[in-house]
Amino acid sequence: MAHNFDIVIIGGGILGTSLSFFLSSLNKSKKIAVIEQAHTVAFHTSGRNTGKVHAPYLYNPKKKKLFAKSAFHGFEMWEEYAKLRELPFKKDGVIEVALDKKGIKVLEKYLKWGKQNGLEEDDIKLVSKEEMKKIEPEIKCEAALHVFRDASTDYSKFTKSIMKDSKKSGTKFLLDTKVTKIKQENGKWSITLNDEQEITAGFVINAAGGQAIDIAHSVDVAEKFTDVHFRGEYWKAPKEYNHLTKTSIYSVPEFPDYPFLDPHWIIRVDGSCEIGPNAVPVFSPHGYDAAENIKEFIPKMLEMLNSGARKAVFDKQFQELAVNEIQSSMSKTAMVNRVKRFLPKIDASKITQKGTAGIRSSIIDDKGKFAPDVILVEDEMSFHILNYNSPGATGALPFSAHIVNHLNKTGMLTSEEEDAVCGPWKFSQIIEKLQ
Ligand SMILES: Cc1cc2nc3c(=O)[nH]c(=O)nc-3n(C[C@H](O)[C@H](O)[C@H](O)COP(=O)(O)OP(=O)(O)OC[C@H]3O[C@@H](n4cnc5c(N)ncnc54)[C@H](O)[C@@H]3O)c2cc1C
Repeated sequence: MAHNFDIVIIGGGILGTSLSFFLSSLNKSKKIAVIEQAHTVAFHTSGRNTGKVHAPYLYNPKKKKLFAKSAFHGFEMWEEYAKLRELPFKKDGVIEVALDKKGIKVLEKYLKWGKQNGLEEDDIKLVSKEEMKKIEPEIKCEAALHVFRDASTDYSKFTKSIMKDSKKSGTKFLLDTKVTKIKQENGKWSITLNDEQEITAGFVINAAGGQAIDIAHSVDVAEKFTDVHFRGEYWKAPKEYNHLTKTSIYSVPEFPDYPFLDPHWIIRVDGSCEIGPNAVPVFSPHGYDAAENIKEFIPKMLEMLNSGARKAVFDKQFQELAVNEIQSSMSKTAMVNRVKRFLPKIDASKITQKGTAGIRSSIIDDKGKFAPDVILVEDEMSFHILNYNSPGATGALPFSAHIVNHLNKTGMLTSEEEDAVCGPWKFSQIIEKLQ
């Protein structure tokens, strides 16, 4: 194995893998590596999500401009890529329901945002309670947004396929390999892998998902931020519920600052149905089970008490929400009841199997506030992507192209071929669309 790389990307989720895809297409003779501690790419959040290619109606075009743009273009890019590589992609739409008058106002705002973010008249429509009864007879609501430009897929398959393409352009994927130490030495990065082997890199990109803040702190950047982890759990619905609705149903978030708290009725790309995710506070980015959470409890509590997270943890609304979420984790009925508000037919006693949980890591600043958007931190020899949350999988390709372009334009990296062909796209055309 080579020991000296030009660019090392830490993290083989959908983000790190997509970054490597563009970087290796533009830099055929540079040595590029993706380092992933799991045995496969997309083992963590990228392979444990709802699998939706989200239309950008939930995102304020002023506050989340880049994410909204990435989601908008992500839809067409994943659709094209799925065709090229014969991967699952079903344009099955989504319905967002309002359960009261206040919710209808939110839907009107979402409709406006959706259009400002690029959706057209026939991509998104506000429908009345009566119209909704005809479209989805089992749904109870006061009004709904019917969004047609939304799809279901399997992001684990997408990431694995992008990895194959990236490998063809020369990227080395070091799997089962954890970055355990990283330091600057003689104008290069010296990176320790699995506590034993050493490699060097000229430039490091930190795309380590739930551990990105730890990597950043280990090289003394982004010190005013910390993170908290939430486990999103799912319950699988029995087959008899597979045709209860034609479309996945989301509801207007009860707490707009925590939009990830309202479980949905999900139709997956294979036609099976699930309820979820909730957002249970846990103590590790891998806190899928009690053993890992017990192990990480004390270090994480100490870290939180010494950072801005302390303010969030002692915030009354946060505490109430956390208790609510823990309850929904302990009681299946509590979670099912949240969906029952708009889909009354479901019966918790028929739902017996858990789905695959995924973990969301949210960044908190020194004032105890949740960061609303992705955070990009750069220095001369490294680039850190923090708080890369929903709809991160949808936007991974355009977002990665944007980052690679930014690194080129600011001179942090100099690509050999700025207008290379990357899979079915020309790099310059992607960038043009993102302007
Ligand atoms: C419950 C849930 C549902 C979601 N649903 C959707 C959805 O429907 N649609 C959508 O678009 N988005 C969705 N998202 C968001 C989306 O899944 C994430 O934004 C995206 O997967 C983040 O990708 P990533 O590559 O940054 O992170 P990850 O997939 O977590 O990848 C980071 C990788 O870095 C590796 N790593 C970390 N530290 C090290 C180290 N020291 N050495 C080596 N490797 C390391 C980890 O092992 C991991 O594999 C959802 C998220 C959650 C939690």
